[in-house]
Amino acid sequence: KDDQSLVESDKPKETFADVGGLEDVKKKIRMNFIMPLKQPELFAAYGKEAGGSLLLFGPPGCGKTFLARAVAGEIDANFMHIELQAILSMYAGQTEHNLHDIFEKARLNKPCVIFIDELDAMGGSRHQMRQHHDRMLVNQLLLELDGLQAQNDNVFVIGATNTPWYLDSALRRPGRFNHLVFVPPPEETERETILQLKLAGKPMGSIDLKKIAADTRLFSGADLEQLVQDAVESALERMFESGEIEPITQNDMKNALKSRKATTLEW
Ligand code: ATP
Repeated sequence: KDDQSLVESDKPKETFADVGGLEDVKKKIRMNFIMPLKQPELFAAYGKEAGGSLLLFGPPGCGKTFLARAVAGEIDANFMHIELQAILSMYAGQTEHNLHDIFEKARLNKPCVIFIDELDAMGGSRHQMRQHHDRMLVNQLLLELDGLQAQNDNVFVIGATNTPWYLDSALRRPGRFNHLVFVPPPEETERETILQLKLAGKPMGSIDLKKIAADTRLFSGADLEQLVQDAVESALERMFESGEIEPITQNDMKNALKSRKATTLEW
């Protein structure tokens, strides 16, 4: 496999305004990542430099990837999404080399956010041969993280996992992923905000979003997005029949709700 298939890179347009709720998480990220980049002299007075790493954890679909992209959008940075499974499936030796190349590339394209999803997959192998292989990769990642700490590179590493308890303990030691942040399922008012964001700009009848928000306890952002998609489908069907724009109605939302349930329940 060449380097290309190991990372997906782009320049995200999403910003924090697109991420509904999660105000505490955003604040923490603003303070530790975004402000030091925008006002380095203020932060330097406290011995703080731009760059560093952050570990997001929580149930699936609650916005870890979305948030990581929005961080890049906020600071006008490049975004590199590491396909960890692809790296893990390569031959020993090659993996470390590739990981190093990815970090080098990030440095050349700074500011840059490197996002590593399913971080728990690293170091999780039971098989002895694989275990050794994984360990080398974990060690290489630690080396890269330590390198970033030392160099004030304007490269940010955001890791994500659904199962932090499976994470290699070396990765959780201080100075590595130095900020551990829980990304929880949205609260009722946050769900209302997310629904608003997902419906924005679409033809809408009068929909009682408060009621929908109240009826979607433990729904993730992804679940809510799916709900809106289902409702859009129903409106599209009517539009297909009538040949005119048909607004999305409360009833469409209610029907969608019948066939969807919260996926964070299984977490
Ligand atoms: P996984 O652990 O499965 O990788 P995740 O936490 O990374 O999940 P995302 O991929 O970020 O979840 O979320 C899936 C989609 O759900 C996003 O693309 C986004 O559209 C929507 N979404 C999730 N949370 C939010 C939110 N807080 N505000 C707006 N949209 C959200």
